[in-house]
Amino acid sequence: LEPKEEFGHSSLTVDVMRPRRSDPALAVLTQEGMTVGEALVESTRYSGFPVVVSQESQRLVGFVLRRDLLISIDNARKRQEGVVSASQVVFTEHAPAQADDGPPPLRLRGIVDLSPFTVTDHTPMDITVDIFRKLGLRQCLVTHNGRLLGIITKKDILKHMAQIANRDPDSILFN
Ligand code: ADP
Repeated sequence: LEPKEEFGHSSLTVDVMRPRRSDPALAVLTQEGMTVGEALVESTRYSGFPVVVSQESQRLVGFVLRRDLLISIDNARKRQEGVVSASQVVFTEHAPAQADDGPPPLRLRGIVDLSPFTVTDHTPMDITVDIFRKLGLRQCLVTHNGRLLGIITKKDILKHMAQIANRDPDSILFN
């Protein structure tokens, strides 16, 4: 991946990140309030999900891999009595006040990467590509004024480069 040859100074991260304008919104988890059933693992196929303070704030808490979420939910269903689809998934440090009659919450702060890499939407793509290459990232979150705006994956970058070069994405080596 040789950024400087592929991107001039014209491409910005906002041009390559997802979602695009016509796409569905970014699939995020809120740090509390969602249930196991709402935890996006069944309704989407993304490899990971940003965790935010709330839908309204879009303040970033961290990033959770789909794989870890699936394993944790599966384990909890097997071991923890009472964890069901209606159980709350909680990513906060402290447990929320629990409703007496509700199922027990599933506490998953342990699987959150609390310092995911981020770039801003206006970061030039050559710098973002450099970060991916030097740090060996698979994905990076994109913010605007401190709010979560999107996500960019290694594959998004490769596809964009392929479009620019008008070549088959599989023919470009990532090194
Ligand atoms: P990859 O790009 O390696 O296939 P994913 O399966 O996670 O990785 O992502 C597929 C596409 O969806 C990419 O274009 C990516 O930018 C986007 N994407 C990834 N995670 C999310 C998410 N949580 N919400 C919305 N779009 C996402």
